[in-house]
Amino acid sequence: MDFARDYKMLIGGALDGGSARFDVLNPATEQVIGTAPDASRDDLDRAVAAARAAFPGWAATPIEERKAALNAMGQAIFANADAFKRLLTAEQGKPHAEAEGEIMGAGYWLMGAASLDLPVTVNEDSDERYSETRHVPLGVVGAIAPWNFPMVLAMFKVGPALLAGNTMVLKPSPFTPLATLKFGELVKDMLPPGVLNIVTGGDALGPWMTSHKGFDKISFTGSTATGRRVMESAAPTLKRVTLELGGNDAAIVMPDVDVERIAEELFWAAFRNNGQICIATKRMYVHEDIYEPLKDALVAYAKTVKVGDGSEQGTQIGPINNEAQYRRVLELIEDAKAQGYKFLIGGEATDVPGYFIPVTILDNPPEDSRIVQEEQFGPVLPLIRFDDVDDVVARANATDYGLGGSVWGRDEDKAFEIAQRIASGTVWVNETQHLSPTAAFGGMKQSGVGVEGGLEGLLEYTSAQTIVRRRPAGPTL
Ligand code: NAD
Repeated sequence: MDFARDYKMLIGGALDGGSARFDVLNPATEQVIGTAPDASRDDLDRAVAAARAAFPGWAATPIEERKAALNAMGQAIFANADAFKRLLTAEQGKPHAEAEGEIMGAGYWLMGAASLDLPVTVNEDSDERYSETRHVPLGVVGAIAPWNFPMVLAMFKVGPALLAGNTMVLKPSPFTPLATLKFGELVKDMLPPGVLNIVTGGDALGPWMTSHKGFDKISFTGSTATGRRVMESAAPTLKRVTLELGGNDAAIVMPDVDVERIAEELFWAAFRNNGQICIATKRMYVHEDIYEPLKDALVAYAKTVKVGDGSEQGTQIGPINNEAQYRRVLELIEDAKAQGYKFLIGGEATDVPGYFIPVTILDNPPEDSRIVQEEQFGPVLPLIRFDDVDDVVARANATDYGLGGSVWGRDEDKAFEIAQRIASGTVWVNETQHLSPTAAFGGMKQSGVGVEGGLEGLLEYTSAQTIVRRRPAGPTL
């Protein structure tokens, strides 16, 4: 399989080049690295029809066979990790080491989903009746993925949806379609035709999916603004939705941390993947007793970090993935400058090809500043002073977002107590961004609807069905 060309959709078990194509750029060079099919409405209809046709057979396939297929797909990803890694770096921008981490995570997530089981609850088992509740698949799932972690976030959906017996049409972001298309080519013969279909296209394709009558559920990962549109568009046909949306995670750093030891980890909590992580630390609240030394340690560490083309040896932070996001991050930097906020490092756009923004750290901007209140999704971190725990908890929670958050302190019990007061779907103590295919992950408030991962995430791909059987001992009809 040639990972460097021939990107085709997967529709009904066949590879399909589509009738039109669009360019995919390398964000480090702004050069075209390939073209992807630009699906027409007819292409989408054919993918949905294939998924519908495959549904009864897949739903009736024993779960052990469905697990075996997911495990085989996971192994196939592992076996091709090197080629996937290079392609992912080329289209997404992340450094090779991180791209490899994401690819391994994608395989691991499929296999992790395959370790789950669908429970059956016995509600009553008496002389009069036997009643059980089980979980049956929904039908055809439309999966829509973003560009920051195109492969692993797609597998967050593929694993549990297929395990539960659904079929799927998966759409990657137009900025990062290529690795997902190669995944389709790789696993094409590991599943019955139509169980997994992959379509790519421009801005029209997502809305076509969310309004399409042939889908029973939409599983969406992306921004909160788009999530609202997805929910609205899914409403007329009452599709189920799972929405994994944006965040503005606060890290709360208590005064008893070992500043020198923790600085590097805190840095990466904010800057990993160039800050383009839904659960990146986007506001860092630092206790005033350690504000100055931690600030200095973060800036000193930031100066050692290499920003560059992700395919070059030693690069630790790549470019922003696409021009629109690049402009958005620059606009937030310009706003901070216009307001006169103090920059500790960074803040100047580089005059080289590629969507590069230097690591930028701001010194205690006001709580109501845009850089504190908005999701930056880029390499710009506001450090903010606090001196009172109740006050900082209130500030951390004073947002419509509620995705993640973290508390850092040597007194773990104290940190744990504070963590429980953060209104977010996941809160970490003395670490961050650790996720698992067997643990629920999702957003509170406007960071999402529903969860992915774990039994809770699996059940979102099912309908609860209660079957009640009258016992022969009851009166005959
Ligand atoms: P986005 O909302 O722009 O796009 C996400 C996907 O939706 C893409 O595939 C896009 O083509 C598609 N899309 C765009 N408009 C659509 C519409 N009207 N209807 C249906 N589909 C549509 O998001 P993005 O810029 O790709 O990703 C960044 C955002 O995603 C950030 O806000 C980030 O926090 C969030 N995110 C959340 C999670 C999570 O698990 N909660 C994970 C990663 C990213």
